[in-house]
Amino acid sequence: MAGQAETIYANRKGELSMATETHHDVIVIGGGPAGSSAATFLSKQGHQVLLLEKEKFPRDHVGESLLPFCHNLFEQLGVLEQMKETFVRKPGVRFIDSDGSQSTTWCFDKVIHDHTYLSFQVGRGDFDKLLLDNARRHGATVLEETRVTGVALDGPDGTVSVQASGPDGQTANYAARFLMDCSGRDAYMATRQRLKKKYAELDRTALWTHYGGAPLRGGLEEGLSLIIYMGGDKKGWLWIFPLGPNRLTVGVVLNNAYIRTEKAKLEQLGVEDWRLALYEQELSYSRFARELLANAEMLQPLVVEGDYSYYTESKYGENYAMVGDAATFIDPIFSSGVYLAINGARKVSQGVHRRLTMPEEGNAGLVEAYKSIEGAYKMVFKLITFFYSVNTINFAQMEAVSDTIHQQHQDAMSVGHFLLAGDFFERYDEYSKVIDALQSPSIFSKYKKLVSARPSLQDTSCDVSPDLAFHRLRVIN
Ligand SMILES: Cc1cc2nc3c(=O)[nH]c(=O)nc-3n(C[C@H](O)[C@H](O)[C@H](O)COP(=O)(O)OP(=O)(O)OC[C@H]3O[C@@H](n4cnc5c(N)ncnc54)[C@H](O)[C@@H]3O)c2cc1C
Repeated sequence: MAGQAETIYANRKGELSMATETHHDVIVIGGGPAGSSAATFLSKQGHQVLLLEKEKFPRDHVGESLLPFCHNLFEQLGVLEQMKETFVRKPGVRFIDSDGSQSTTWCFDKVIHDHTYLSFQVGRGDFDKLLLDNARRHGATVLEETRVTGVALDGPDGTVSVQASGPDGQTANYAARFLMDCSGRDAYMATRQRLKKKYAELDRTALWTHYGGAPLRGGLEEGLSLIIYMGGDKKGWLWIFPLGPNRLTVGVVLNNAYIRTEKAKLEQLGVEDWRLALYEQELSYSRFARELLANAEMLQPLVVEGDYSYYTESKYGENYAMVGDAATFIDPIFSSGVYLAINGARKVSQGVHRRLTMPEEGNAGLVEAYKSIEGAYKMVFKLITFFYSVNTINFAQMEAVSDTIHQQHQDAMSVGHFLLAGDFFERYDEYSKVIDALQSPSIFSKYKKLVSARPSLQDTSCDVSPDLAFHRLRVIN
C-alpha cells in the first residue's frame, strides 16, 4: 500500500527542495498498451500502482491493426464496449502479390465461431488514451509528461527507487516494491543494462503515414487488413488498413541493406527528401497501392521507424520485470505486437501479484508467466522468419481452402488462420512443430500442390457488410 516519506527534489538548475515521496506497491514505466494494461490488472487486484509516462496523451504511435485474440483481454480490462463504439472492426487479413495478380483472404470466422472473431483497426492516439484513462479509472495514479531518468534496484528491503522528471522540469524520486518496465522500444532497462540483442535476420525499417480521399475497396470496405508482399532483395511489404471511412494507414517495410542502396541512388539523383521519395517509389511498385492512392492525400508527415526486432535474454529479476516491446520486439508483419504486449502484461501482473502477496513463493509466478511469454515470442519469431525464407509460402499464394480443412485445427490452413488471429500463448509447441514440418521440401511441395490446385485464388472478401466494419464511424469521420 502507498506510504509517504520526506525526499529531496531538484529542478533543472540543480536547486534542491524538500518534499514528500510516495511509496507504491508497483511503479510502471510507460503508458502504452503493456503499461496501462499492467496498471489496470494490478489495480484491480488491490495494489497501489504509479504509472509514469513521458508523453502527454493522446500521442501518435505505430501499430494500428489488432488481433482477434485481444477481444477477451479487452473484456477483462473493461474497455470492450468503448472499443466497439470507437474503432473500425476487422474481420480478417488479405495478402496480395506485388503485381496484384494473386491474393488470399483469411477470415477469422473460419476458425473462431463466436463474436470474438471480429477484431479492431485503431488509431493509436485514441486507443492508447482509452487504455490509459481506464487504468486511472481502476485506481492507478498516472503521471503524464513524466520521464523516468533513473532507476535503482537496490533500495532498502528490496525496494526499487525511480527518478523521474515532470512537466515542470522538476525531478522527483518514487519508491515501490516492484518495477514494471513497459517503456516500449525505448527499452529503458534493457538498454541501460546493455541486454538488448538484435535479430540480425529481421533488420528492417518501416515508413508510414495516413491518407484520406482513397476509395475503400479490395477488402478495405469490409475492414480487412491488406498486406502486399513485395519480396525480392528488399524482403519488403506494404500494409494498408482502414482506420475510418476516410482514413487509411499505409506503411512500407524494407530491408535496411536495400534502403541503403536506394538512398544512395536517390541522393545521386539530387532528391531533396530521400525518405519520402523512397516511400512513394515503393508504393508505386504495387499496382494495387498505386491505383488506390492515385488521388489520395497524405494527412500527416511521414514517420520512419527503425531499430526494431530485438530481444532480451534476461527479462526479470527479484523486483523488476520487462514487458511488451521493452523486452522483445519482432517484425510487425503479423500485427502481433499489441496482443503480445497486453497478454504479456496480464501474465506478468499475475506473477507480480503472487510475488507481492505470497513472498514465500519467491519468483514462481514470474517464472510461470515468462515460460509462456517466451514460448509465444519464439514461435512468432519462427513464423516470421519462415514467412521471409526463400522457400516459403507466400501468404498471397496460399489459397484459403475448403471448410473441412478450416474445421481441423491441426491442419496447416487452419493453423494459419489461428496464428493470424493470435493463438500464440497456449499451443506454441504444436504450432512450432507445424512450421518445422513445412520447412521440409517434400512436405512443402505436397502442400504447394494442394494449395495451387485450389480454385478461386482471387477471393477478396470475408462476406462482411461494410456496416459491420464501420458502423457509426461513418457519422464521426
Ligand atoms: C512498423 C511497425 C508496425 C507495427 N504494426 C503493428 C500492428 O499492426 N499491430 C500491432 O499489434 N502491433 C504493431 N506494431 C507493434 C506495436 O507498435 C507494439 O508492439 C506495441 O505498441 C507495444 O506496446 P508497449 O506498451 O510495449 O510499447 P509502446 O506502445 O511503445 O508504449 C511505451 C510507452 O512508454 C513510454 N516511455 C518510453 N520511455 C519512457 C520513459 N523513460 N519514461 C516514461 N515513459 C516512457 C512511451 O512514451 C510510450 O508511451 C508495429 C510496430 C512497428 C515498429
